Order: sequence, then structure tokens, then C-alpha cells
Amino acid sequence: QAKRAGRGTYACYSAQLDKHAHANMQMHARLKDAINRGGLRLLYQPQVDTCTGAIVGAEALLRWTDELLGEVSPSRFIPVAETTGLILPLSDWVLETACRQIAIWSDAGTPLRVAVNFSAQQFRQRNLPDKVRAALQRSGAPARLLEIEITESIAMVQPVIAREQLESLAALGCTVALDDFGTGYSSLAYLKALPVSKLKIDRAFISDIPHDMSDVKISRSIIALAHSLGLTLVAEGVETEAQLEFLRDHGCEAYQGWLFARALDAVDFSARLDFQNLRAADTF
Ligand code: C2E
Ligand code: MG
Ligand code: MG
Ligand code: MG
Repeated sequence: QAKRAGRGTYACYSAQLDKHAHANMQMHARLKDAINRGGLRLLYQPQVDTCTGAIVGAEALLRWTDELLGEVSPSRFIPVAETTGLILPLSDWVLETACRQIAIWSDAGTPLRVAVNFSAQQFRQRNLPDKVRAALQRSGAPARLLEIEITESIAMVQPVIAREQLESLAALGCTVALDDFGTGYSSLAYLKALPVSKLKIDRAFISDIPHDMSDVKISRSIIALAHSLGLTLVAEGVETEAQLEFLRDHGCEAYQGWLFARALDAVDFSARLDFQNLRAADTF
């Protein structure tokens, strides 16, 4: 009886694995197709000054809507792309598209810093700085408007490579932000040694502010830590006025979140930038 149940459990587990593997293979094939046929979109979420409410930057976020699978979240398909190697052509497309958009906004007189998420595999490429330099040159985007976003864990797992890569990218003129800060474990010694200028407080710490006292304390400490190291802060996932007020009161410079806007396509984003500039012109 026990043996039979055991075997049954195994069969069930194995069937689940098969199902999972099959789903990933299907996703890989469809994603590859989407990359080749131009089925991806890059959206831009505003980064907003907590005091003035002005848009001061953007984060590029990938979107994929598949005919069969529907809208697939990047937190689902990026890990699949990482294990199948698709992440490299995918990341090349993101970098190229973001640089072109930076150049478009610059040329239109509304220059904006755009942050691009870099994956672990992408970051491990020896020729990454060359690729970034080439993409900047092709598009005519100024390097200082391209922000490299890597997660805390990418930076800490391979600290020597991370430091070399980030120094090369910073030498091009790009800025560097540490994403999802507080969710991994950063060695403060490494953090100090990296050419990072910005920390992004993970949404996990923001969502229960101001009710959750430990999140309040953690966020306060992250802000104090960043400032003592001369870094600026962006808070992720700000959804309420109370959260914004807390961040403003504690000196967090900027935020991203649905309170202000979700990720927008370039056309909608441009309209908001133009509106902001009109209003600024009005005040003179
Ligand atoms: P991330 O870099 O930490 O991006 C922030 C995520 O928070 C985005 O999810 C964004 O849509 C979401 N977000 C922003 N404001 C709010 C809010 O107020 N409330 C809530 N609930 N969520 C908010 P998204 O777009 O689904 O992306 C998930 C993750 O996928 C990103 O996390 C990033 O790690 C990865 N990703 C997205 N685009 C790319 C890309 O082009 N390349 C790479 N390598 N990774 C990407
Ligand atoms: Mg990010
Ligand atoms: Mg993040
Ligand atoms: Mg996150």
C-alpha cells in the first residue's frame, strides 16, 4: 500500500515536472518567434520627483502578448529566456529600442534618463560594454541618459565581474542603479566599491507603509544608508498618497508606482512629458 502510494506520488511529481518542462519549451518557442517577428513591446514607467511631482526619468519594462498564451509577465518569461539563451537576443533588442527612445526624447528637447534592466546572463557577457557603446553610437543617445539597472543579487553573486563590468559601463558615461534593494544581501563593503549612484527600494518594503512598523523602519534605514553613502533613492511600487508622503518626509528623492502611472507606451509617455513642459513654461 505504502509502496503503491509512494510510486503514485512519484508518478504525479514526474508528470508535474513534465508539464512544467513542456510549458517552458512551448514558451521558449513562442518567445523566440516573437523576438524574430517583432512581437515585443517596450513600455516606460515614469520615475517622479517626490517633492515636485515632475517626471525625472523612466524605467523600460518589457511586454509580451502572445496569441495563445495571452499577456505573459516578464517575471515569468525572463527566467525561461535566461535558461535557454534567448535572453541575449532579447536583451539586445531591449537595449537597442531603449537607446533609440532616449535619442528621440533628446532630439525633441525633452531629454530623459531611461533605466534598462540587465539580466544575470547578459551581464556576464564579456563584450557587454562594447555592445552598449555600439547601441549608444548607432542611436545617437547620450550615454549619461542610459541607466543600467542590475539587481542587488547579480552584483553580489559575482562581485569581481560585476565591478569590472560596471566600471566599464560607468566609464562610457552610463549611470548605475541597484534594483530590488533590500531583498538580497548586500555586502556594504562591495556596495561602497561599486560605481553605483542609485538604490531602488524594493516594493516589498513599500506596500505596507505606513501601517507595518518594521517596513517603516527598514525603509527609513535604507534611505539613511543610501544617503550616508552619497546615493540617491527611488522607491518602487508606490500606490498610495500615504506612502508618497512617508517617502517625501524621509528624503527619498524619487518614486515609481501606479499612484502616478503604470508603464506607458512611448506615445502616451511623450504626451505626459509635453504636458509637463507646457505647464513649466506657463509658470514663467
Ligand atoms: P523590476 O525591474 O523590479 O520592475 C518593477 C516592477 O514593478 C514592474 O513589473 C512594474 O510594472 C511593477 N510596478 C511598478 N509600479 C507598481 C505598483 O505601484 N504596484 C505594483 N504592484 N507593481 C508595480 P513588471 O513590468 O511585471 O516586471 C517584472 C520584472 O521583470 C522586473 O522587475 C524586471 O526584473 C523584469 N523585467 C522587466 N523588463 C525587463 C527587461 O527588459 N529586461 C530584463 N532583463 N528584465 C526585465
Ligand atoms: Mg528594474
Ligand atoms: Mg525592482
Ligand atoms: Mg521587483
